[in-house]
Amino acid sequence: MDSIYLDNAATTPLLPAVWEAMRPHALDAFANPASAHRPGARARKALEDARERSAALLGADPDEVVFTSGATEANNLAVTGLTGQAPGHVLVSPVEHPSVVEPVARLAAAGFSAEHLAVRADGRIPADALAGRVRGDTVLVAVQCANHETGALQPVAELAADVAGRTAFHCDATQAVGKIPIGFHELGVSTLALSAHKFHGPKGVGALLVRRGTRLRPLLAGGHQQRGRRPGTEPVALAVGLATALDLWHQQADERLRKVRRLRRLLLDQLELSAAPVIVNGPDAEQPHHALPHTLNISFPGCQADALFMRLDLAGVACSTGSACSSGSLLPSPVLRAMALPAERVGSAIRFSLSPLLSENEIADAARRIVQAVTALRGFPAAVNCVS
Ligand code: PMP
Repeated sequence: MDSIYLDNAATTPLLPAVWEAMRPHALDAFANPASAHRPGARARKALEDARERSAALLGADPDEVVFTSGATEANNLAVTGLTGQAPGHVLVSPVEHPSVVEPVARLAAAGFSAEHLAVRADGRIPADALAGRVRGDTVLVAVQCANHETGALQPVAELAADVAGRTAFHCDATQAVGKIPIGFHELGVSTLALSAHKFHGPKGVGALLVRRGTRLRPLLAGGHQQRGRRPGTEPVALAVGLATALDLWHQQADERLRKVRRLRRLLLDQLELSAAPVIVNGPDAEQPHHALPHTLNISFPGCQADALFMRLDLAGVACSTGSACSSGSLLPSPVLRAMALPAERVGSAIRFSLSPLLSENEIADAARRIVQAVTALRGFPAAVNCVS
């Protein structure tokens, strides 16, 4: 049985048009963009075109785009590169991705003091969460744009405006770029991270946008590429793939968003009707400024999440418990715990994440399979319904 892929927050399928745009740069125009000969100049031109196109689509200037291997590297570069030497003070949202959480933990181990911002039960950070929190020694605030587990959207522009000129502000926009409009300059942040494979681009490429004038220490040493901020031979074909995926999203943005909203409604209606009780974790996605419609995090009381996940996998529904990076660990989701949800709700939560490439038939079919799995699992005694 073919799996219906409802795990698009983990990664998305590469669009064939993106692959076709990348192909000549991987196979024919393969020269090193730093080389002084003509093939090198051609590769450099393709790279700089990709940088210009990406910058324009993200509301940034081309010299503010630093290509990286993905968002994990971009987040590490921002958190480490913006902070310098201890001591210092860092404020971070408690619902960040591990690629922000763990570099911040390293800062704390190196002598920085790190504090969490408040978060509401729906996973959103209050717009005034930074009031009175920034100190004279605060060197970094980090708040993501959209959450990887719940889709919660954070009031990044308001938060950044609150601290403008007083501290660096990093925004991990990995789950938002290529799904909703993002304007780097409009957000007013110092740095912003993204990853191409989250919006139907290739894996292995992302970017850190770095506002002009921002001091950023590189993570790597040993080359002059990208003005020394990210040394290493640039992957031209991957950068072209990132720019093309972003371009295609831009051309189809409204249509894609409308489609995903419709699919989300269809899935949730079916589950509420036939798998009740179900509880949505995260903000109300009918409020467009509160949550991405792509992510649907649902608790199924009476079901243990890992047992349900395995049943769904066997039934041909690919989804996730927590984020892909923490699933498999059997630890309760740090994001849902930060939202202070009851243990039973955290332990029965599954993340379905959608893409505009899915059809309504696939969603209806997935809903049927989910209802069957939930009904079967609820019929088992608690001891059997638990894999740990
Ligand atoms: N930040 C967020 C919010 C993410 O969802 C992810 C991917 N799970 C990352 C960062 C890391 O992205 P990548 O794996 O492409 O480096």
